[in-house]
Amino acid sequence: MELIFSKGAAGRVGSSLPALDVPNNNSILDSMKRKESAEMPEVSELEAVRHFTLLSRKNIGVDSHFYPLGSCTMKYNPKFHENVASLPGFADLHPLLPQLRRGGALTQGALEVIYETEQMLNEILGFAQFTMQPLAGAHGELTGCMLIAAYHKANGDASRKVMLIPDAAHGTNPASAAVAGFITKEIPSDEEGNVCMKSLKEALGPDVAGIMLTCPNTLGLFDPNTAEICKLVKNAGGLSYCDGANLNAIIGRVKPGDLGFDVMHINLHKTFATPHGGGGPGSGPVGVAPQLVPFLPVSRVAKRADGTYTLEYNHSQSIGYIAPFYGNFSIILRTYAYLVTLGREGVPRISEHAVLNANYIRAKLAPYYDQEYDRYCMHECVFSATRQTKYGVHALDIAKSLIDRGFHPPTMYFPMIVKEALMIEPTETESKEDIDRFIEAMIDIAKESEISPEKIIQAPITTPVKRLDETRAARNPKISE
Ligand SMILES: *Cc1c(COP(=O)(O)O)cnc(C)c1O
Repeated sequence: MELIFSKGAAGRVGSSLPALDVPNNNSILDSMKRKESAEMPEVSELEAVRHFTLLSRKNIGVDSHFYPLGSCTMKYNPKFHENVASLPGFADLHPLLPQLRRGGALTQGALEVIYETEQMLNEILGFAQFTMQPLAGAHGELTGCMLIAAYHKANGDASRKVMLIPDAAHGTNPASAAVAGFITKEIPSDEEGNVCMKSLKEALGPDVAGIMLTCPNTLGLFDPNTAEICKLVKNAGGLSYCDGANLNAIIGRVKPGDLGFDVMHINLHKTFATPHGGGGPGSGPVGVAPQLVPFLPVSRVAKRADGTYTLEYNHSQSIGYIAPFYGNFSIILRTYAYLVTLGREGVPRISEHAVLNANYIRAKLAPYYDQEYDRYCMHECVFSATRQTKYGVHALDIAKSLIDRGFHPPTMYFPMIVKEALMIEPTETESKEDIDRFIEAMIDIAKESEISPEKIIQAPITTPVKRLDETRAARNPKISE
């Protein structure tokens, strides 16, 4: 690709500013000035626009490509919600504007959005109350773990230090539990990909604070023993945490609160109108059963008898602040717009289509790729490239080869309990035609792996930068050229 540094000509400019008509009191210290020219390209506005437009087209994004990145729910989000989030009445609000009295009229709408979103989430998920504060999924996990710790402490049960975590849990779960001060204990999966009930029963005891279940788990499977697990943990004096980042699989079908979970986080930046990738802002609200309500963080949005909204800070048992201000408000606002648009009938259709699409891919690719657990999946399916390794082709090569065929790669080598894992999450927003094109590409790669594996191993060949030496790139990074 021709870089902008090779474009333009000396003296060419892309702007037309009037001559300086004020004194130039050059206040930069001489010692801080660069000694040589920065050798910036001198280009016209058009050259700069073309450069950045072409660059942006090299990118693979949801708006341009099928993006089956398992566990990340890279679904298409209608632009309408972006418009709502950028309405000046919301976008220009300052977080320190007063809630009532002077200026209150400006913030009441925002507080109402937070409050109403909480109410909708309570109903969809079966919890008593939500906090919208956490700024990411893992931040929600940490908040949930802190709530569990506060609960046991308040009950004089602070010796409960062990958090049980199945090996099919998301990797952030043990990290969050450890940061919150728990000792983690792994529970293995059984041969069907569910929690091994025997190991669970053996692990339960007076030192157990709770369990963190990823639901569905990272194998893309719903554990049919979920309600039973929550009951066993409860009988042993523990609490059950639901990692609901993959809510796309079950939303509108089952209420995790009804299954017996005491606390749960969800990822608004997956399930609700904001994509997960790209490192943008996130939001990981946490819902709790009644016994955990007193410990929720502050601030909390409350509705008064006169219909106005206010922020409450005065809760003596609260774990306190876990985020500045009121969470990532614009993400909450998109969620509100998304839920109101979908309505009661629309919400269950998210999971209906997400699960159907994943099982369609699973069934179509079953003759070509190995699957560790041959059963219906939820919103994503996990294959293993073990069959292809016979020809020297690995999960990484298949992922790179998909780029040449116009697809974002799926998640690779995760979950770690599956060898050569390829985790595919089509989401509910893809059409059958696009999913069929992806299936064809995967079948094509499987066939080519047998006939001419060297082609797959060389991929990608259509990108500006070809196959990278990932080990050398990590050990000896060159970031200046
Ligand atoms: C994405 C994800 C998380 C973490 O969410 P972040 O917002 O990236 O912190 C946790 N658990 C599961 C199952 C996930 O898919």
